[in-house]
Amino acid sequence: MSLTLKSFIKHVEERNPYEPEFLQAVTEVTEDLIPYVNTDHPELIDLKILERIVEPERVISFRVNWLDDNNQIQINRGYRVQMNSAIGPYKGGLRFAPNVNLSILKFLAFEQVFKNSLTGLPIGGGKGGSDFDPKGKSDHEIMRFCQSFMTELYRHIGADTDVPAGDIGVGGREIGYLFGQYKRLQNNFTGVLTGKGINWGGSYIRPEATGYGLLYFVECMLVHREESIIGKLVAISGAGNVAYYAAEKAIQLGAKVITLSNSTGTIYDTEGFTIEKLNYISILGRDLAKFAKKYKSASFYPKETPWQFKCDIALPCATQNELNDNDASRLIKNGCKIVAEGANMPSTTGAIKAFHKAKILFGPGKAANAGGVAVSGLEMSQNSIGLQWHTEKVDGRLKTIMQNIHKTCVRYGNEENGYINYLKGANIGGFIKVAEAMKSQGV
Ligand code: GLU
Repeated sequence: MSLTLKSFIKHVEERNPYEPEFLQAVTEVTEDLIPYVNTDHPELIDLKILERIVEPERVISFRVNWLDDNNQIQINRGYRVQMNSAIGPYKGGLRFAPNVNLSILKFLAFEQVFKNSLTGLPIGGGKGGSDFDPKGKSDHEIMRFCQSFMTELYRHIGADTDVPAGDIGVGGREIGYLFGQYKRLQNNFTGVLTGKGINWGGSYIRPEATGYGLLYFVECMLVHREESIIGKLVAISGAGNVAYYAAEKAIQLGAKVITLSNSTGTIYDTEGFTIEKLNYISILGRDLAKFAKKYKSASFYPKETPWQFKCDIALPCATQNELNDNDASRLIKNGCKIVAEGANMPSTTGAIKAFHKAKILFGPGKAANAGGVAVSGLEMSQNSIGLQWHTEKVDGRLKTIMQNIHKTCVRYGNEENGYINYLKGANIGGFIKVAEAMKSQGV
């Protein structure tokens, strides 16, 4: 017996109607897994491992009532998708954004399973969040929302059950409010969330980890091609946590970062960003246009994305499907050699196919941005032994983890003529450990 991609996708589509992002993620993974399972692991077919791995173990959906600053009642929807716990407790971020829905959270939770497995740490996959929009909310409103959200979520999570963290719209401040409420309800100081403050159980390097890890991964991609990062032109999208620390590390390593962006537009700086310029970005908030008024070498392009500019390396660090087929064509035409995803699924399916066709190296998010969850895993380890490791130790471990992920991608993604299909490598490398664990644990 063998599986066909077409009938498998049809089956997933029928079971999950109106979930385009989830279907996109499942298709991108199973395109690589089905041929691999058919030839290398036919025993997994009878065990229905693929049918099982696309089905969340548990989906929790709940109402979140909260009072705004005008004492008006507001109602949002909260979720936690507990996707797979074969290799460890569910682990993955919480996203607060108005477009959050089950399709987006299921795609993120699904990707998280493979990403977490690739880190080599004992963490399963999950994701959660709410359609709550943090933009324009006061600090008190954020606190009341987080408390109300945790008042339901707390009964479903735990240090050995499910360990949420941040994602878009959830940073250190939100993790603090969520943790405070968990502790009030459970009377238990435990590592139930990661991304905590450094004085109350957090890990050094956690805020920097996704961006730094992305650059460590890109360095590995370059070393594999016997190239160096020094002097390379790097286009980055986003201006949040991931983009910021990716830019910082790229500059430290000697690259020239030429763009940053948000939904209002893109800053293009011909002289490249410096650490001082990055500091200015962090105090600007969403008003990126101001940057070009202060720095003469920079221009602001309202509503534009960074992908029209000539670069050697493109790092999409904003959100899903932000880099489409047209953007991919422009990057290829302008000589871009490496694309690595700091965000989750920022490249459309068409864009990825174009990169592969043009033999551009493409580092998918589940490999390239795994540094964030990897240091979350290290935070869990530190919490469970009641210790805090110093910066150099955590950073060193992060680097080793990213190097190992790169090795796994090369091992499973090596194609004819030495081209590395990192997506295939990450899909197969992340899958195999989870599949073996599911097999061992029975039906
Ligand atoms: N949200 C991050 C990700 O997409 C981090 C998750 C975590 O630290 O648990 O991997």
